Amino acid sequence: MRTISIRGLAFLSIMSLPALSYAQGLDFPYVNENGEEIFGKDYVPQSAGNLSLPLYIARPNAGIQVPDDLLLFTQEAFRPRVQDLSLPNEPAHRQVPATVPLLRDIRQQFEPLQVPRLQFHRQQVPEVTSVSASIMRVHYVFVGQGAGAVVELPCGIAVIDLGGEYGSGDGKVDGGALFVDYLKNFFAKNPQYNNTIDTLILSHPHADHINGSDELKTSGLAVRAIVDNGQTNNSGTLGRQSAFRQWVKDQGGQYAAVELARQTTATGVTNAAIDPFACATISAFWGGANELLSRSGYENPNNHSVVVRIDFGQASFLFLGDLQHEGAADLLAQYEENLGVFDVDVFQVSHHGADGDTTDDLLNVLSPRIAIISMGTKASTGSPSAWQYGHPRLTTLKILQEEPVIVTDERNPAGHFWGAPAQKSDFKNVDISRAVFGTGWEGTIIVTATQAGEYSVSTLGFK
Ligand SMILES: [Zn+2]
Repeated sequence: MRTISIRGLAFLSIMSLPALSYAQGLDFPYVNENGEEIFGKDYVPQSAGNLSLPLYIARPNAGIQVPDDLLLFTQEAFRPRVQDLSLPNEPAHRQVPATVPLLRDIRQQFEPLQVPRLQFHRQQVPEVTSVSASIMRVHYVFVGQGAGAVVELPCGIAVIDLGGEYGSGDGKVDGGALFVDYLKNFFAKNPQYNNTIDTLILSHPHADHINGSDELKTSGLAVRAIVDNGQTNNSGTLGRQSAFRQWVKDQGGQYAAVELARQTTATGVTNAAIDPFACATISAFWGGANELLSRSGYENPNNHSVVVRIDFGQASFLFLGDLQHEGAADLLAQYEENLGVFDVDVFQVSHHGADGDTTDDLLNVLSPRIAIISMGTKASTGSPSAWQYGHPRLTTLKILQEEPVIVTDERNPAGHFWGAPAQKSDFKNVDISRAVFGTGWEGTIIVTATQAGEYSVSTLGFK
């Protein structure tokens, strides 16, 4: 194990509707020019609908803080058609309180005076109270091209995605098996967790995020709750997601669908499946956006990724799945009343560092200290692989390290790694001086955080 020290810098604060783009004239499965499965004319997501637990207002440890008594209301309560929302100690037939920030599209359905526009302001994290132990870890597991993370909390285990590639060509790996093997080893070394995943969150069901699902079913590990983007179908990657969700439910697990259509507040959403923990807070944002399917970019499941934030005392982590630039821009627009909810310290760079999907606008809102990229090694030249997709792209590495917005912590010493100028193109050497880490560069990465918001990063290499 190698530990890289990181050093904090002073806080930096700088502050269309095209036609349906579904594949035409092709046979299922539909794939785009990158080889990713996309939706098509007779392959569209349905909603998981009433199979799922209700969604409530989340209260991440940043952004506008919603009063406790409002946390008891479901997202549905804040729709305009609900006229008789009665809150504790207040008369019936009241209006949505101004203390609840709303998603832009919901706010626009209210009379302007009912919901005054609230300004985005960065908010200092409040005092930490009653947490059962002082550290947590996130294991960003090397799974080849793909993603999978184990969130180790003193009070339980969350898993985010089940990567990764199962490809062809030189250097290929079985990323799903790698991830489940890592999980099994982790639980064997940590018997206090009783071989139980308390919540399993799938960002979206592309193969590089769900390939471990079959191995997981036969691993002997229990899954107490499953969270996904709610998208449902009998075939393709959605069929795989739907079947896996059903398997968890058949084992007695709870289920939460994180769908944009069921969200109203710009606070994030939560419930007992998304966040079963007493020692941390998990909030979900975005997710299945079936109502946006006609918009450019939304034919790709990437833009329907569940986005998740984890708070542990003053430490904070964000997972963006494979959200692309279209989805990221719409996410920021919908949450414009409360962008502070995305102000985090550690983030997983969306879409494996793909071209154009990490923007200065997004980084400005996140103001991250540490960035983690999940990607394959440059050894694999087959399909799928970092080489095939061009992950991480040189343009993304530049955005993370150069003004106007950067990842603020530094690596010490600096790293010498590589990035892709394009797809299927020779990788180029890159110096990494900021706290940017890549699973394809250094193997599994473990970020340890204290409740006080102090971080250390270890890399395990490739065994
Ligand atoms: Zn991916």
